[in-house]
Amino acid sequence: MNSETRQWLEADWDFGWHPFTDQSQWEQSEVPVIVRGKGVYLYDSEGKRYFDGNSSIWTNIHGHSHPALVAAIQKQSEELCHSSYLGLANAPASELGRRLCGAAGMDRCFFSDNGSTAIEAALRMELQWRYQRGETGRRGFVAFENGYHGDTLGAASLGGVGRFFASIAGMGPDLTLARDLVELEALDPERIAAVVIEPLIQGVNEMRPWPPGMLRKLREWCGRTGVHLILDEVMTGFGRTGELFACQREEVRPDYLCLAKGLTGGCLPLAATLTTAEIYEDFKGPGRTFYYGHSYTANPLGCAVALASLDLCEHQSFLERIRKGAEVMGETLAQLDELSLVKETRRCGMVAGVELVGDRQGAKGKEACLRLRGLGLLTRPILDTVVWMPPLASSEEELREMGELFVQALQ
Ligand code: PMP
Repeated sequence: MNSETRQWLEADWDFGWHPFTDQSQWEQSEVPVIVRGKGVYLYDSEGKRYFDGNSSIWTNIHGHSHPALVAAIQKQSEELCHSSYLGLANAPASELGRRLCGAAGMDRCFFSDNGSTAIEAALRMELQWRYQRGETGRRGFVAFENGYHGDTLGAASLGGVGRFFASIAGMGPDLTLARDLVELEALDPERIAAVVIEPLIQGVNEMRPWPPGMLRKLREWCGRTGVHLILDEVMTGFGRTGELFACQREEVRPDYLCLAKGLTGGCLPLAATLTTAEIYEDFKGPGRTFYYGHSYTANPLGCAVALASLDLCEHQSFLERIRKGAEVMGETLAQLDELSLVKETRRCGMVAGVELVGDRQGAKGKEACLRLRGLGLLTRPILDTVVWMPPLASSEEELREMGELFVQALQ
């Protein structure tokens, strides 16, 4: 290890605090210090190259340091860096709101900073909407078991992953967890404001896809019962499932569409909560202001890079390439399914989970990820499932190379 790497690691061990991390083990671990990214690769301070098989916390679409995104940030940074959205407007935010609503078939765009706040804003809008209409009985939310919607207190209280949220059980909005549509339909809709779901696939729940048609049926139930539908597309948005937005696969229009991660191609923190005219119109007039917002709201750097990213997403080959990439990943998964160490593989578009035979405590998943890292492929475990979520811009050849490393590591 070179002396610079050691200095950075020691400062990290002495002063840092990492998310979702057992710090007692972290403080001795010689993890790579990432200094550079290009395309599908990340480089550490020792000069070692890795595939970014986790898309940098599921955010990376177009590869690292994509020239169009770098140029957008550079250009905007010479004009205006700071947020100017409280009592003022800024050009990139105006344009981005228009473009996002157009792409998603929604009517209004509310900006925040990350996936959790995109959900939080939807919850707050929904509670205020019901309150303004005097529907005080309808204050409950329904989420699905093992779902994950972020870590701020409101978003976290919708979380259905016991080990993450035990410490805040009972806090936040009135929540009912449903396992599936059958359980949802058995509930009294007159007490429910909205139902929230990760469409097509639950991410943190070890990459578990929903049965085809489920989302459409959920939309129909919401339509019949007057319950609003909040779609959490923080992970699935911007191409990951092979659609620009996952809900487009089942032609579903939600009441709220929450976007973050891929919105800026993963470069800068920015989020959007898109909603309908029906909801928005009710916030007009005295006493109806939506008292919610953050200092970095609609940050122009974030909006400028999001616009450049959206240009790339709307290129005609974007979804075709993803669908082809998904097929290539499927070939690797079929190979992995043959290995004795692999319990099951699951995939939706270009996101996959490889569940290993283990005790579901995570030791096997962690070991596999360490071995993959040694071979030059960065991934993350969720319990004993290894997540494979490469940048959407990965070429077929790059995906095949990653696949070979997977097979080699798990054989
Ligand atoms: N919703 C989903 C489906 C997510 O996967 C995540 C992040 N993994 C979030 C919300 C929270 O996003 P953030 O980490 O940006 O707050």
